[in-house]
Amino acid sequence: MRLLIDMDGVTADLVPYWLSLINRYYGTHLKPEEVTDWYIHKMTPHLTQAQVEEFLKDPGFFLHLEPIPGALSTLKTLIQEGHDVVFVTHCKYGHEDKRKWIERHLPGFPLSSVIFAERKELIQGDVLLDDGLHNLEAWQKAYPDGTAICFDSPYNKEWQGYRVFDWSGFHLLVKALEK
Ligand SMILES: [Mg+2]
Repeated sequence: MRLLIDMDGVTADLVPYWLSLINRYYGTHLKPEEVTDWYIHKMTPHLTQAQVEEFLKDPGFFLHLEPIPGALSTLKTLIQEGHDVVFVTHCKYGHEDKRKWIERHLPGFPLSSVIFAERKELIQGDVLLDDGLHNLEAWQKAYPDGTAICFDSPYNKEWQGYRVFDWSGFHLLVKALEK
């Protein structure tokens, strides 16, 4: 199967590092579990979206992100099992950093299978694994026969379809979908 995999919040742990910078710079005390909206600035009414997103522009920002537990080993297994794993990531900033992150954490992964796309519904696959409601909804609508799978987060509780809570859950669900 062709598995379309999101990076931020699914493969790379975006929120904790991003929040640590926001907290340090603006003196806030936000915790990752308190981020109940995909747009972090909605949690910080005194900060604008531009102020919050400023950190994303820092060269090297994405290289600081830790892999989500289980992501790398599961991706390697899925590739070994014959799946066509494709990263589909929205990327306003840091394209080169994201490529380097993949090279560092998944050496040998083909960069030709890394697609930068804001409109993920333009990319066809059997499965989309994502943490963004807007991506899941738009993609599922475009591909009713595909399976949009939500990677559980405090900010995507409204999703009504398939949901996994970790990478081992995703692996099991992929196996189930193959049958
Ligand atoms: Mg994401």
